[in-house]
Amino acid sequence: MQHVHLNGIDYRAPRAPVVVVCIDGGDPAYLDRGVAEGLLPAVERFRRQGFSAVAQGTMPSFTCPNNLSIITGAPPAVHGISGNFYLDGDGQAVVMTGPELMRSRTILAQFADAGATVASITAKDKLRRQLGKDLDLARGSVSFSAEFAGQCTLAENGIGDALELAGMAQPDMYSMELSLFVLEAGIRLLERRRPDLMYLSLTDFVQHKHAPGDPVANAFYARLDDCFGRLEALGAVVALIADHGMNDKSLPDGRPNVIYLQDLLDREFGAGDTRVICPITDAFVRHHGALGGFVRVWCRGGKATPEAIIALAGQLPGVDQALGREETCRRFQLPPDREGDVAVLADVRTVIGARQADHDLGQLAGHRLRSHGALAEAQVPFLLNRPLNAEYRGRAAAGLRSHQIFEYALNGVEA
Ligand SMILES: [Zn+2]
Repeated sequence: MQHVHLNGIDYRAPRAPVVVVCIDGGDPAYLDRGVAEGLLPAVERFRRQGFSAVAQGTMPSFTCPNNLSIITGAPPAVHGISGNFYLDGDGQAVVMTGPELMRSRTILAQFADAGATVASITAKDKLRRQLGKDLDLARGSVSFSAEFAGQCTLAENGIGDALELAGMAQPDMYSMELSLFVLEAGIRLLERRRPDLMYLSLTDFVQHKHAPGDPVANAFYARLDDCFGRLEALGAVVALIADHGMNDKSLPDGRPNVIYLQDLLDREFGAGDTRVICPITDAFVRHHGALGGFVRVWCRGGKATPEAIIALAGQLPGVDQALGREETCRRFQLPPDREGDVAVLADVRTVIGARQADHDLGQLAGHRLRSHGALAEAQVPFLLNRPLNAEYRGRAAAGLRSHQIFEYALNGVEA
């Protein structure tokens, strides 16, 4: 197998199996807390013997843009996916969660074409189609989700029976087992087919509900740690990354701390003059009520200008910053044609919504709101079970981006 090239980076062919795990919502605080409590022996060992840092994630700190950055080794300006929705020129909301709008191939697809056996296993099926884009499933490669594990076919997924592979029953969509299924399937695949390269992407169901140190979070992380240790014991280079962190977004009395920006803009400029898009919105809103720390505003009428929106939003308590399109794209390497006229970022304790009527907070069911999307959630763990070589040690010291995890796992460690 030869090395492959994608988006300006040369990736060396793996000499040992390389497994990259994306801990969805894996705020660094969960690992810190779990290690401090002695619950995570594998992570503790990786930190001691391998390489550990906190890296800058992709903005907005949502699931799709970050998974796509990780799998393409590039920012959204290159791969095109900057959220779950954007507004096109006709004012229509366009879904960005399919492979159609991706502007880059993936590291997995490049390696599969070069003769490698690769695997992409995700918790939710939504992500599977993007991560599996252009993936040639000949030569034993697989691409499937835990969500639809019971419906896999050889033609579509490269495997006929993923339940048998994982040795687990079909996990519930809202359970920690959905993530554990991904890891168990990856471990069995490593035992049976020994793929050259695997990407295992989990879901943040637990982190949306449970803070670091909470018994459920600790139990979940102890089980993750057990899986990380078993991947290492099978001889893999194990790389841990997260798509985004997670913070408590509630008031002291437990109510969600929300700015309903569309209501405020409608009051100032009139209904229909602006359109707030919450790019965190997807079909699975049960645990965050479609409320995150980053929204986009489009000017639709003529009254509101970007400058006026920035002036209004920028002084709201709980807003970290409000930026025009050009500045947003420059600062966060985002695609201009999918960016709003104004981006509004919340601070660490606040989320931003559209109209109050658009958000169903009953779904929180007594839990404090925990969410992500802003800069406060763009710091993620970057962990390898093997030490870096001299070249990459030097490069890491100058700053790390989460989308470099495949590069570091393939080029940066002694195999
Ligand atoms: Zn996520």
